[in-house]
Amino acid sequence: MDIVQHYIGGKLTSGTSTRTANVYQPADGSVARQVVLGNATDVDTAVKAAEAAFPKWAATPPLARARVMFRFRDLIEQKAKEIAAIITSEHGKVLSDALGEVTRGMEVVEYATGVPELLKGDFTEQVGRDIDAYSMRQPLGICAGITPFNFPAMVPLWMLPTALATGNCFILKPSERDPSTSLFIADLLKQAGLPDGVFGVVHGDKEVVDAILEHPGIHAVSFVGSTPIAEYIYTTGTRNGKRVQALGGAKNHAIIMPDCDLDKTVDALMGAAYGSAGERCMAISVAVAVGGIGDKLVETMAPRVRALKIGPGTDNTNEMGPLVTKIHKDKVSGYIDAGEAEGAKLVVDGRGLKLQGYEDGYFIGGTLFDDVTPDMKIYKEEIFGPVLAVVRAETFDEALDLVNKHEFGNGTAIFTRDGDSARTFASKVQAGMIGINVPIPVPMAFHSFGGWKRSLFGDHHMHGPEGIRFFTRYKAVTSRWPTGIRAGADFIMPTLG
Ligand code: NAD
Repeated sequence: MDIVQHYIGGKLTSGTSTRTANVYQPADGSVARQVVLGNATDVDTAVKAAEAAFPKWAATPPLARARVMFRFRDLIEQKAKEIAAIITSEHGKVLSDALGEVTRGMEVVEYATGVPELLKGDFTEQVGRDIDAYSMRQPLGICAGITPFNFPAMVPLWMLPTALATGNCFILKPSERDPSTSLFIADLLKQAGLPDGVFGVVHGDKEVVDAILEHPGIHAVSFVGSTPIAEYIYTTGTRNGKRVQALGGAKNHAIIMPDCDLDKTVDALMGAAYGSAGERCMAISVAVAVGGIGDKLVETMAPRVRALKIGPGTDNTNEMGPLVTKIHKDKVSGYIDAGEAEGAKLVVDGRGLKLQGYEDGYFIGGTLFDDVTPDMKIYKEEIFGPVLAVVRAETFDEALDLVNKHEFGNGTAIFTRDGDSARTFASKVQAGMIGINVPIPVPMAFHSFGGWKRSLFGDHHMHGPEGIRFFTRYKAVTSRWPTGIRAGADFIMPTLG
């Protein structure tokens, strides 16, 4: 059986640990390969390789680093279909969707090619008599990324192009559930001319994560995953003196106003709730129907949810693939049981779906609940599956209040034709990413991605300008050249005079 190895110092290695985990093909439940689960020694080996490479890489002119990114970007474009096929085999999502995530990740590489411009500092002549001031941003050193299963290409690419282009070394700890994409990316970086040691991959679980959080040679940790782990990463990492950004879970609400274009809204909700089987941190999982539009909304959605075309991700005509693992499938089914038991109206039940030829696959059908209330577990918790909960609200204010009271604040959207409602929503809502008639408002690479409240721990969002700030330190230089010291020593606080 194939073993997915670490990538350290430009080479594949099994490291020192003897533990492994199975990697499944979600469409048929078979074990595709195994992945090594590393330990603290493996993390230390990757840090040492990075430390050896860092001084030269940090001193490489930004334009030369950008050229590596240009080549990396072209290789991703050439190999996009191969990357997507790997994603589909281990994650399960439909190929066209996997290709979409590769493109969104590539866009961050495109942003990083602009690093000479992005690193430009400010300069002020004559801040005092014969004194100039300027600022610069410098790399942090060795950074690590810890990523979730649901975007095995895009989420690592949210981090590593910016980290590398700004002159850092980067060690990736991908999800152990779909680890192979990371090695493909490592190979493309090598082909693009990235020096060995600058990028490393250490596979594993909590043991590797803890080793990263405790290693004194790692200066920053970028994390994406569930909220309890994000909080743990943030508190442990910062306690150990590291800079940390930790993006967590979500419960994204869409507010459906009575004046919306219902057909277009239903189209948007179908993709946003059921695309990628709901395993997206920006999936819409709650639809808040305002002022009596609920009946019509549920009536229009129900037949479409029943008709969802579900099957293996390798068939591009499918709209939804399987869930990632059996454990996750059982968890999502458990939430549907809980919603039913709590008295929500189960309009479409996705449990028990069996596909001929794929009986052991982790499939679950699209599920639609109506009359969900805020005290229910299916409203409060992130399900991360193809389950949409419809909640009724009398007014816009009541709907807004619901979003604002929820513990998560990742993304949210409003569907309306009224500019005043949309503008008020964008201004008052407590969430990081807002869609106005846009169901999944994922910011482009040159903006930044991140949520509020318990959807993000730390103060920097991912990629875009915030990413540049996260992966660099600011330095302000005040300089006076020899003619300026002719006047002799100064003992008073410098002022303009
Ligand atoms: P997860 O939290 O289980 O795992 C994320 C990473 O943390 C993995 O690399 C995993 O190996 C590691 N990990 C897991 N348990 C750990 C532990 N006890 N100690 C230390 N490390 C541990 O998340 P997941 O199931 O892979 O991904 C789904 C979650 O990620 C969802 O909650 C989703 O909302 C979230 N997510 C958030 C965003 C965002 O931008 N906010 C984006 C994608 C996914």
